[in-house]
Amino acid sequence: MDFHYTPEEEAFRAEVRAFIAEHNPPEDKHEDPDTLRAWHDALIEKKWIGFHWPKEAGGGGGTLIEQFILKEEMSAARAPALGSDFMGLTWVGPALISYGTEEQKARWLPGLLDCTSVWCTGYSEPDSGSDLASIKTRALRDGDEYVVTGSKIWTTLAHKAKWCFMLVRTESSDRYGGITCILVDMKSPGIEVSPIPNLIGTHSFNQVFFNEVRVPVENRLGKEGQGWRVVMGALANERTGISESTTMEQQLDRLKALAKRAKRGGRPALEDPEVRRQIARFDCRIAAMRLNGMRHLTHQLKGELPGSETSVNKWLRGPLEIEMHDLALGLLGAEAVEDGEWQRTALGFHGTVIGGGTPNIQRNIIAERILGLPKD
Ligand SMILES: Cc1cc2nc3c(=O)[nH]c(=O)nc-3n(C[C@H](O)[C@H](O)[C@H](O)COP(=O)(O)OP(=O)(O)OC[C@H]3O[C@@H](n4cnc5c(N)ncnc54)[C@H](O)[C@@H]3O)c2cc1C
Repeated sequence: MDFHYTPEEEAFRAEVRAFIAEHNPPEDKHEDPDTLRAWHDALIEKKWIGFHWPKEAGGGGGTLIEQFILKEEMSAARAPALGSDFMGLTWVGPALISYGTEEQKARWLPGLLDCTSVWCTGYSEPDSGSDLASIKTRALRDGDEYVVTGSKIWTTLAHKAKWCFMLVRTESSDRYGGITCILVDMKSPGIEVSPIPNLIGTHSFNQVFFNEVRVPVENRLGKEGQGWRVVMGALANERTGISESTTMEQQLDRLKALAKRAKRGGRPALEDPEVRRQIARFDCRIAAMRLNGMRHLTHQLKGELPGSETSVNKWLRGPLEIEMHDLALGLLGAEAVEDGEWQRTALGFHGTVIGGGTPNIQRNIIAERILGLPKD
């Protein structure tokens, strides 16, 4: 691992900083649609959405290191996201680039890059979560179409999505080889989206029912029966996206600010040795995540695809989220109710802890596929 940047990479970093100084909107405007549109337009002009995607795919053709610098600077400046469609950009786009036909790339990639697409992900089912290979939603071939029947659950953004990146069963006797990935138009007749309110009372995920939904065979991504391979790559990208250490660094900054203003025994909590020790430990764990992220980057620079090692940061993030929120809520005490922000994120972090595979599942992957221990 070489931590030095080349003069060209440093020049790129300076370019990103200048862009941020000119375009980064004030934080209280980050949710405003007009402000976001202007931000996205400026990014699109630079080709910084999908920056490291190949130019033939409409991307900016940047290197992985430049993409890393871009994200690092954007995160340090608390800038809005690099694009609007997190799921689409983090795993649907890369899967299309790896497995899509030229027609499929031309059809779906532009919407990701110009921020007009909204994708959702249909993996989990009422009886298939961690054991994803047990999915039962059937896709029966009928001429040039699949007829899809079944149900998906916890489908984030299904109520807003235009398309669903979905796993279906095309063959019942072959557990892994009978799974196929299809891209489903959410306006297709026979789809019913039923909201599931979350703990904080907002609506982010849904149960989706598919009742003989007709999906053209040309919407299949990869070959029939290749869905497991497609989804393993997509999950590795999802885990990497969820576990970027920059998000945790921002959270630690919030926690340090809170410890400065909260009081313990009449003095700032940050002066309490036990609080300092806990914060220092969080800092070390986040630094380990960052280094581990750079290890993945090094592998990718050598041409390797992201794989099981992405589970390490995904697993590290879960307990960190829980322990950092415990400390924050403890520092706030009864004030947590008034503060609201920490309470809201404490009730909402389950998405990053459970989504993309629970901590237990990450442990299994690390044990079996990285450490070579026997299967459970
Ligand atoms: C906020 C949020 C958003 C989500 N968004 C989506 C989405 O957009 N699309 C989608 O398809 N899914 C989504 N999910 C679903 C998520 O992927 C599943 O919840 C997750 O995979 C776990 O499955 P499950 O809920 O069925 O739990 P289960 O699989 O029933 O697990 C229950 C418990 O048993 C443990 N367990 C299960 N199997 C094992 C094992 N072999 N070894 C050890 N422990 C085990 C688990 O760790 C867990 O603690 C989302 C979930 C959340 C919380």
